[in-house]
Amino acid sequence: MAIASVNPATGEVVEEFVEMGEAEIEARIGRADAVFRGHRGDSYDSRARFMRRVAELLDAERDEVAAVMTGEMGKTLVAARAEVAKCARLCRFYAERAAGFLADEPADAEAVGARRAYLRYEPLGPVLAVMPWNFPLWQAMRFAAPALMAGNTGLLKHASNVPRTALYMGELFTRAGFPEGAFQTLLIGSKSVERVLSDPRVVAATLTGSEGAGRSIAAIAGRELKKTVLELGGSDPFLVLPSADVEAAARTATTARTQNNGQSCIAAKRFIVHADVYDAFAEAFTANMAALRVGDPTAEDTDVGPLAQEQGLRDVTEQVEDARAKGARIRCGGERPAGPGWYYPPTVVADLTPDMRMYTEEVFGPVAGLYRVADLDEAIDLANATAFGLGANAWTTDEDEQARCIAELAAGAVFVNGMVTSHPELPFGGIKSSGYGRELAALGIREFCNAKTVWVGGG
Ligand code: NAP
Repeated sequence: MAIASVNPATGEVVEEFVEMGEAEIEARIGRADAVFRGHRGDSYDSRARFMRRVAELLDAERDEVAAVMTGEMGKTLVAARAEVAKCARLCRFYAERAAGFLADEPADAEAVGARRAYLRYEPLGPVLAVMPWNFPLWQAMRFAAPALMAGNTGLLKHASNVPRTALYMGELFTRAGFPEGAFQTLLIGSKSVERVLSDPRVVAATLTGSEGAGRSIAAIAGRELKKTVLELGGSDPFLVLPSADVEAAARTATTARTQNNGQSCIAAKRFIVHADVYDAFAEAFTANMAALRVGDPTAEDTDVGPLAQEQGLRDVTEQVEDARAKGARIRCGGERPAGPGWYYPPTVVADLTPDMRMYTEEVFGPVAGLYRVADLDEAIDLANATAFGLGANAWTTDEDEQARCIAELAAGAVFVNGMVTSHPELPFGGIKSSGYGRELAALGIREFCNAKTVWVGGG
């Protein structure tokens, strides 16, 4: 795929870039390695000063960066500004908390015959981050902020359709005071990932992206015996049970499905509703979805902008058409608006059956699948009948049902009477084909650390 910034609202090419060649890749890996070795012992205080400065730059440049993101991947400007603000909050969170998360952890010295025994966290080295376009700043930042605070260095291979955001990030940390080379962007295509990850100086990789990319990177890393964190796709269930506040559930469901124009790994995608409240929920949810304003992502009152890529639009269209052809009922949406741009309307599809693609595939657009179930057992079985296991939403005020959902939904996160969202304070990640490892919170910063056991005897 060519590295280019293309406006999804119009299809116009904004800017094209030439991929970095071998000499540039080599120079950047060399710099990442040298900075790691030269600065791995720097104090958390000095890194925290720079990280707070990153947050200040993001605050000051919020509107400008938001416009870049909207211009190359189509999220609404309102959402883009919120994303920049969330990144600033993340930087402050790790500036404040990294030293505590990575403080030495005492062990029971007496039990192991030592005078002192403890765990000490050390950075690993240069880490390759392969990132997606859907939250172009947030996804990359939730790797970068903890990794840099821990003392690692970062090499960002961003998605080929968000090069302007990638270049902004490539300069941000140096501008904030981090040594030049602590965090760099590599403008390369996915074919060059193997070259970088096979380099002995690059010690680990993190990928946020599709299942296919995950398998490919895990295979390279497996051959090279390098640590990976994989944040992959999801087809999150959203359960609605009879005790739930159905109107509130329908409102949250609408946001959960259409956030980021429907292109979020943790968007709720399968709405699994108890027969007793199915009709009420389906009506309210369909009405909400149909009422959303679709259009120019730079307009302040737009709810849903275009999809980020033409291929994405083709995929979503084909998934809905496949369901329609096999007998599903399109309750709203399902017809592309005329005119330029890669728009797809909020769509609710009911009466899905296992032979339809939507039943098993992730739908990366504002399209909801609606399922009717007879009881909680069937709801949980259907929720878990997926290759993915990222997040799960459950709406019920019954405490026994809540306990069962928390225990039995196979996912990296369960949110009850709310929607799955990422927060700096909560670990984030999946199971099954949604990947492994965790980002954010204490677990996230420890992923790219050597947890070194120290045993010190007497004398
Ligand atoms: P993608 O096509 O997998 O791309 C993600 C990144 O991987 C891009 O930088 C891409 O580079 C690179 N890539 C693709 N194929 C590769 C390969 N074979 N080897 C090495 N690198 C490769 O995914 P996307 O379409 O950008 O993002 C959507 C997917 O990401 C969805 O499945 C979504 O659920 C998932 N996602 C997961 C999370 C999470 O935290 N779990 C968060 C956000 C998104 P190019 O752009 O150059 O191809």
